[in-house]
Amino acid sequence: MEKAYWSAKARALRPYTAGEQPREKLIKLNTNENAYPPSPRVTAAVAEAAADLRLYPPSDGGIFREAAAQLHGLDTTQIFCANGSDEVLAQAFLALFDPDRPVYTLDVTYSFYPVWADLFGLELRTVPLDKDYAVMPGSFAGAGAVVLTNPNAPTGMAARPGLLREIIEGTDGPVIIDEAYAGFGSHSALPWVGEYDNLLVVRTLSKSYSLAGLRAAYAAGQPHLITALETIRNSYNSYPVDRLAAAGAAAALRDEAWHKECCGRIMKTRDRTRQALIDLGHRVLPSEANFLFVECTDPDAASMFQALRDRGILVRYFGSGRTRNFLRVTIGTDDDMDAFIKAMEHIS
Ligand code: PMP
Repeated sequence: MEKAYWSAKARALRPYTAGEQPREKLIKLNTNENAYPPSPRVTAAVAEAAADLRLYPPSDGGIFREAAAQLHGLDTTQIFCANGSDEVLAQAFLALFDPDRPVYTLDVTYSFYPVWADLFGLELRTVPLDKDYAVMPGSFAGAGAVVLTNPNAPTGMAARPGLLREIIEGTDGPVIIDEAYAGFGSHSALPWVGEYDNLLVVRTLSKSYSLAGLRAAYAAGQPHLITALETIRNSYNSYPVDRLAAAGAAAALRDEAWHKECCGRIMKTRDRTRQALIDLGHRVLPSEANFLFVECTDPDAASMFQALRDRGILVRYFGSGRTRNFLRVTIGTDDDMDAFIKAMEHIS
């Protein structure tokens, strides 16, 4: 009875599991939110926009689209805005990928990709990272379509610019680069969108701009790609970016000084946390994101996850595949990370 009225599609789906949003007070290092608040200009802009919610918002994100275009020196026709990058990515999959052209991605990467592939009837093929979790040169050779997270998640590791170019130039069809964790020191492919007619770069304001709760993200690419995404949007939901999100996102993108300062602090905390964990004897992958991927052997990752939780610290444990002995740990404030390092010292 439970699924009696479900469509065959809904019955067959295995949806993505989002990280826990606990009600109790924990040191929350599990969903890669920013440790610091957004620019104060965001609150002011949202409050102002909240004073008039009578009218529908502009379908294309309006001032948000303009601010993103301005930030990157692009035309607004090169920007597509939506309600978080999960939505941008889902629409990009629908707009650019086809069932008869396999989509290539990495074997260790964002676990939402197979869910969308399944939902949209696409074939997703994986190429392995090397033993150190780096992208291997030539590994995408012959691919017709690619989706890549850079820096990668959950490893935190970024590919070199030369390798990114090799992948974009070596792919016949579209290449989507998900730069959810841009801002924390990695190289970005975004300045190349004018050079490559098959490149779409996706950015979110959830991480480096501290706006996971607002739901705002965008894609940058040549107008012929952006029009494809708009075609999908206008066949699904004409108003994905509400007035509050558009106002807040535009204000955040226009306060680059705040953004830089905040990301700089996180990068500093990340690097000293990584060193402290290495000193404790852990293998920690090099990270250009706002999280660390930490291998646990004694105790194993599952036990370490529970022991941390018992001490009031919540991290992310995926528990499958070749990274089942790793924990992903978001970089919090300095105090959060001191508490985390101390707990790791006691548990190990
Ligand atoms: N891409 C990657 C690699 C992510 O880790 C996330 C966060 N879960 C997203 C996209 C989606 O982020 P949002 O929808 O908050 O923009």
